[in-house]
Amino acid sequence: AAPFLPGVKHVIAVGAGKGGVGKSTVAVNLAVGLALRGHSVGLLDGDIYGPSLPTMLGLDALQTNIIANMLQPFYVHGVKAMTIGKLVDPEKPLIWRGPMAHGAFKQLVEQTEWGELDYLVVDLPPGTGDVSLTMAQLMRLTGAVVVCTPQLVAQDDAVRAVRMFQQLGIDVLGVVENMSYFVAEDVTPAREYDLFGRGGAEMMAQRLGLPYLGAIPITIPLRKNGDEGNPSANFQGKTR
Ligand code: ADP
Repeated sequence: AAPFLPGVKHVIAVGAGKGGVGKSTVAVNLAVGLALRGHSVGLLDGDIYGPSLPTMLGLDALQTNIIANMLQPFYVHGVKAMTIGKLVDPEKPLIWRGPMAHGAFKQLVEQTEWGELDYLVVDLPPGTGDVSLTMAQLMRLTGAVVVCTPQLVAQDDAVRAVRMFQQLGIDVLGVVENMSYFVAEDVTPAREYDLFGRGGAEMMAQRLGLPYLGAIPITIPLRKNGDEGNPSANFQGKTR
């Protein structure tokens, strides 16, 4: 089996069958939330085709720093983060052949100065592909979290992502239902709209015998804080 990453206690991958379901949002907020609970946390942007972390963590103005051939992670929102998005022209398409994708991901993992971490959260590309395979070869994971929206078409793809993790020998820690419902707070009492069929991902988790980790509603602040690179704001006023 692949070795553990030295100095890293737990590696948790966040995957999804489809793009746009909120995988990066969950990865970012999982990492920031774990850090707020006092853990030392790294966040690796494994989505080398469409890195979201530069925007979601507000890395745009920060300079990439290399010391003794090692990439120094960006320390933001209590988390050590690294992304290919800070190593290439942000508007250049990232077209990787299989071996190049493998090399790019491996480099981000092995040539970043992660130091000692309780958790390394990996934001994977959507779907079932090269990067997940490389990841499984490079390091032993604690497990993977699968993010899914409630619609049937999203579930179908999520099932494929679950099966992929299982084939790679990676435990699936559970399923998160994102964009589960929308809360309209401009009416009293606040009204909830089941836009996409709330509970769909929960049913899928049950059907596959996987833990259901919970639902995240669609909210404007979650989108806005993501666009503004300020995930810490999602936790303001929250107690653990
Ligand atoms: P993925 O990584 O699966 O492609 P993202 O995390 O990038 O998806 O999310 C896509 C977009 O949807 C982003 O603009 C993000 O801020 C927004 N988004 C994701 N989840 C929610 C949510 N629960 N409420 C509001 N906006 C969300």
